[in-house]
Amino acid sequence: MAASKAWAATVLNLLLTYVAVLIARGVRFLGPASGNQACGEIGAGRMWEPNLLAASLLEPPVNAGLLNGVNLLITAGPTRERIDPVRYLTNRSSGKMGFAVAAAAREAGAHVTLVSGPVQVPTPAGVTRINVESAREMYAAVHRHIADADVFIAAAAVADYQPVKVAKQKIKKDSGAMKLDLEPAPDIVKSVADMAKRPLVVGFAAETNDVEQNARAKLKRKNLDMIAANDVCHSKAFDCDDNALLVLWRGGQQELPRAPKSELAAALAALIARRFAESRLAPGRASVPA
Ligand code: C5P
Repeated sequence: MAASKAWAATVLNLLLTYVAVLIARGVRFLGPASGNQACGEIGAGRMWEPNLLAASLLEPPVNAGLLNGVNLLITAGPTRERIDPVRYLTNRSSGKMGFAVAAAAREAGAHVTLVSGPVQVPTPAGVTRINVESAREMYAAVHRHIADADVFIAAAAVADYQPVKVAKQKIKKDSGAMKLDLEPAPDIVKSVADMAKRPLVVGFAAETNDVEQNARAKLKRKNLDMIAANDVCHSKAFDCDDNALLVLWRGGQQELPRAPKSELAAALAALIARRFAESRLAPGRASVPA
C-alpha cells in the first residue's frame, strides 16, 4: 500500500514537471474544472464542459502574441527591512497587482522573471520566480538579471528606508522612547532607468493624494518610460482583488477604470507592448526626457 502511494506520488510529480515544461513553452492548459469526480471525491479534476472548451479554443487570450519573445523582468510585493532577529519594517502590499501583471505578460508571450518580496500569492504558470526579502536583496536579484531584460516593470512596494544597523539580539523593551536610525533603501527602478543601456522601464506609484500630479513628477524624477498610478486611500488598492489605474507616459495617458486586477493587468500589458514596439521602431525615443 505504502509502495503504491509512493509510486502514485512519483508519477504525479513527473506529470506536474512535464506540465510546467509545456506551460513554459507556451502551451495553454484548459482546466481542470472542479466538482463531483467519478471516484466519488469532490474537487479539481473534471474535464471542462465541451462548450467552454470550444469557446476558449476559438477565442485566444486577448493579448496573445503581443509580447512574443520579449524578456520581461518584474518586481512585486513588499520588502521587509530587518530591525532585529524578530522585528522588521514592511508595508501593506499583497503582491496581487504585480503577480497579475506577470501573468498577463506571460499570456501575451513574454518570458517572465518575477522577483518577489514575501507574499502569499501563487506563482503564475510559466513564470520564473525569485524570492527575496529586503530592498537590498531585491536590488541584487534585479541587477543579476537586468542585462537580459527588454522590459523592466517595478511593481514592488520597496521600502524607502532601512535600519542603519540590524541588531544581532532582540532589542529589549525600555521604559523610555525608542529611536531607530534609518537610511534610504536602494532605489531599484531608478538604478535601472539610469543605466546606459537600459530596457523599457515601467514604474508604479501608490499615492494617497494628488495622484496624477505626483505620478507625473515621479515619471520625470525617476526617468521612467511609463508609470501606472493608483490611489491607495481607504484601502482602495492594497490587498484587494480590484483596482483602478492611471497610466502615464511621455506624450500620452490612459485611464483604466476600476476592474479586477487580472483585467487591469491585461490592459496594462497591452499598453506596455505598444510602447515597447514604438521604442523598437524609434530606438532611444522611449527614454528621451519629456
Ligand atoms: O518613490 P516611490 O517609492 O513612490 O516610487 C514608486 C516606484 O518606484 C515603484 O515602481 C516602485 O516599485 C519603485 N521603487 C523601487 N525602489 C525603491 C522605491 C521604489 O524600485 N527603493
